[in-house]
Amino acid sequence: MRELSGRIAVVTGAASGIGLAIAREFADAGARVVIADIAAEAATAAAHDITTEGGTAIGLPVDVASRPAVERLFANAEAAYGPVDILVNNAGISIDAGIRRLTDEQWQRTLTINQTGVFLCSQTAARSMIPRRTGRIINIASRAWLGWFGQTAYASSKGGVVSATRSLAIELARHGITVNCLAPGLIDTPLLRREPAETLDRLMTAQPTGTLGAAEDVAWAARFFAGPASTAVTGQVLYVCGGKSLYAQPA
Ligand code: NAD
Repeated sequence: MRELSGRIAVVTGAASGIGLAIAREFADAGARVVIADIAAEAATAAAHDITTEGGTAIGLPVDVASRPAVERLFANAEAAYGPVDILVNNAGISIDAGIRRLTDEQWQRTLTINQTGVFLCSQTAARSMIPRRTGRIINIASRAWLGWFGQTAYASSKGGVVSATRSLAIELARHGITVNCLAPGLIDTPLLRREPAETLDRLMTAQPTGTLGAAEDVAWAARFFAGPASTAVTGQVLYVCGGKSLYAQPA
């Protein structure tokens, strides 16, 4: 018996990168996985790959910034598999714009997807988890919330995710629901590869490990928060960043 057998997991932004690795890891642990992404075709393709590998997954479209779309996602997930036990709020964007160039639109878009998206998905999931007195919510923040040069919008949005994790953990603990947060450092995914090569070199040199992490590193940590081994753990931020969070100075 695998530790997530019988569990239903929704992973947002799971058509690519970290979310896809988490979806794969959860399927390996026996969960039925909903790959929820704004890139609908890529979500379906990812679910097909996981199914071919022996897992159980479907792809469903969602824009996490839209309440009707989020409510539709959870209704469709429930219709396909049953009520959701595990939510991973992973969908996110990063806009590289220093404070002199950052526009209102960029600021708003970053907060709407990275932060409001976590609110909408967590609220919808919690409303279904509370009566069943069970649930796991795992938020993907970022080490950047501690500070990242030229990334005020992104870092602020992730700081909001850390803060939401802590408050939700307190509010939902009595209902048997844990809420935890992963703060990845530099992880080799399409999102990170959008950074200019010189920025990547500079960031990698500043890593204690000197290397990028892999999406699987984050997925293994997510599996811990989703499974029975973390029953008494809530409201925590687990850094998956090769030790970078130990440095006081920003990236
Ligand atoms: P990625 O770009 O590979 O994947 C992000 C996924 O989110 C994509 O499939 C995209 O289609 C989806 N998405 C974007 N907007 C969406 C929306 N509105 N609704 C639904 N889906 C949407 O990125 P990644 O590197 O895998 O990042 C995943 C998460 O990890 C993000 O929250 C990111 O901020 C965080 N993170 C990444 C790193 C890193 O180094 N890669 C570091 C720290 C935190």
